[in-house]
Amino acid sequence: MSQQPTGGPSITQERRLVTAIPGPRSLELAERKAKAVASGVAVGLPVQIVAAGGGILVDADGNQLIDLGSGIAVTTVGNSAPRVVEAVTRQVAEFTHTCFMVTPYEGYVAVAEKLNELTPGSHEKRSALFNSGAEAVENAVKIARSATGRQSVVVFDHAYHGRTNLTMAMTAKNMPYKKGFGPFASEVYRAPLSYPFRDGGRDGAEAARQAIDVIEKQVGAESLAAIVIEPIQGEGGFIVPADGFLPALAAWCRDNGVVFVADEVQTGFARTGELFACDHEGVVPDLIVTAKGIAGGLPLAAVTGRAELMDAAHAGGLGGTYGGNPLACAAALAVFETIEAEGLVDRARTIGKTMTERLAALQESDPRIGEVRGRGAMIAVELVRAGTTDPDADLTKKVAAAANAQGLVVLTCGTYGNVLRFLPPLSMPDHLLAEALDLLAGIFATIDQVS
Ligand SMILES: *Cc1c(COP(=O)(O)O)cnc(C)c1O
Repeated sequence: MSQQPTGGPSITQERRLVTAIPGPRSLELAERKAKAVASGVAVGLPVQIVAAGGGILVDADGNQLIDLGSGIAVTTVGNSAPRVVEAVTRQVAEFTHTCFMVTPYEGYVAVAEKLNELTPGSHEKRSALFNSGAEAVENAVKIARSATGRQSVVVFDHAYHGRTNLTMAMTAKNMPYKKGFGPFASEVYRAPLSYPFRDGGRDGAEAARQAIDVIEKQVGAESLAAIVIEPIQGEGGFIVPADGFLPALAAWCRDNGVVFVADEVQTGFARTGELFACDHEGVVPDLIVTAKGIAGGLPLAAVTGRAELMDAAHAGGLGGTYGGNPLACAAALAVFETIEAEGLVDRARTIGKTMTERLAALQESDPRIGEVRGRGAMIAVELVRAGTTDPDADLTKKVAAAANAQGLVVLTCGTYGNVLRFLPPLSMPDHLLAEALDLLAGIFATIDQVS
């Protein structure tokens, strides 16, 4: 009776190309997509995925691609990870939805308890669950405003916080996220970020002083509800701020009654070689926003933080029809278990070390690699015109296209579109990671240096 599973860890862990990428079946789907799906929903690599697991994505033509994207940092524990499959399968047969606000269930509370325990800081915490990163960021702002009685929100250069109206206002980059979609929410202000590769290597304390100066002069602490920051920026280019930048901002927030919100939607849940990126510098945010890696691919997001802030909003002020859906909660509990049982925090560090060493060696022989940066299994290379810091988006596109053609799924990012980012699932076996890095080295060697 039982069917042989086709996805998850049963997939042979090898890259295999049997057609051009994309192959004929994938092209058929692309044609249907063009007729059926709004063209605003763009696709990076138009292959038709039919199964995935470990470090591999399988397409409808039988090609096996190495996954260096994890569906944008979501399948950190792997696609169809065994514990997730088991927990969701059990839950889907029991009940699929009641709406937690109507008739509650245990999974939601268990996820909240676990988040309160795992996130930075040992203070008393509460959590609330939502569906997407953007929705959770919006709710963090609602909570901060409600708790402080203030309205303003400060975000940073290169920030990405989502695609809803408030989070578009908070996101920095016009194309493609904001163009033509305004007017945007008011009372959102932007401060300069620490970006060592592009700010002359200012130290963290000095960069924080400059940001705080802008905040104090242009916004005013007394009207500021929250500072919202990604501890390592995701879409903005995997920018790791100089040491001391985040702690200085957090300290200033504490001194001024401002809520310090860490948007760990991309960096959370073992991705950076700590459970959360804030842990690298011992920063304890007042509120932390999580999503992406939280539930192995099921839609779930959360705001977790100080009990007195989280409890400030009136009863009925927070929630949503699907927030903390039972299937997503079952998946999240299985993800937390998997991270611990499989030692994935350490695994992220090992993967990061392998990637960083290899890419740094490549950088020595290739001046178009301006910087190799990131933490854990969140690593990027910023590409520039040789001998300068001028962004080279063209080269970035070429490298990504060549990688795709060879069965390597890579993502690009950055305000200037010149950053190649690597977010492998932590279920990626060593031999596939090594193969992916060999392929990248080969691509850099063959793409003309005078491009
Ligand atoms: C992806 C992302 C978001 C938005 O999450 P969605 O689930 O796409 O709404 C917000 N913040 C950061 C840092 C992200 O990477």
